[in-house]
Amino acid sequence: MFIVLLGPPGAGKGTQAQRIAESTGLLHISTGDMFRENVRNETELGKVAKSYMDRGDLVPDEITIKMLLERIGRPDAAQGAMFDGFPRNVVQAEALDTALAGRGAKIDHALLISVPDEELVARLGGRWICRQCGTLYHERNDPPKQPGVCDKCGGELYQRDDDRPEVVRTRLEKQKPPADLIDHYRKHGVLTEIDGQRSLDDVTASLLEAIR
Ligand code: AMP
Repeated sequence: MFIVLLGPPGAGKGTQAQRIAESTGLLHISTGDMFRENVRNETELGKVAKSYMDRGDLVPDEITIKMLLERIGRPDAAQGAMFDGFPRNVVQAEALDTALAGRGAKIDHALLISVPDEELVARLGGRWICRQCGTLYHERNDPPKQPGVCDKCGGELYQRDDDRPEVVRTRLEKQKPPADLIDHYRKHGVLTEIDGQRSLDDVTASLLEAIR
């Protein structure tokens, strides 16, 4: 099964993807995580990606699609995957459709998590991430037991540069799922819209229900 998770930055895609992966065993592929790993390791790809990410811009399609196609070509993605943060536009969606069609597969579900803008700004400001294992926390909604320390691995928690308020607004403007992307999946009959302004558990339950 192949799933795409759609939603604006801060809608909870990352957190929900981790939860769905845990409960279904589905492989979680996050292009944002892949870019951040490259930035951390100071690869050539990371250097290019960073210049876009720091401004809240999308990394160019050519670079992103190449990285994603390479990732889904690995054996662990043979049976299925859940894409988080990809596709961000129709060009990326079509590249993914073509790659999957080439192996007799398709996107089975596109899950759109909807949240109003004001709520997104508040959420993104409070987000903390573990430097070691990548677990996500939120000051208000999902705090760690001890501030600044990961519950799971004891790693240090940090805030992403692009979660600073001025960058957050730019990201929201530039990175909301565009209407034609949502239409793309609606036309394919695989779109489910989920109200993301509820508890984490309720949103997870709706997502799992949609893919059952
Ligand atoms: P995310 O963790 O999904 O919010 O992604 C963090 C940053 O990585 C974004 O602000 C973009 O700069 C870049 N990025 C992640 N996924 C994509 C994508 N599918 N296309 C272009 N840029 C992306």
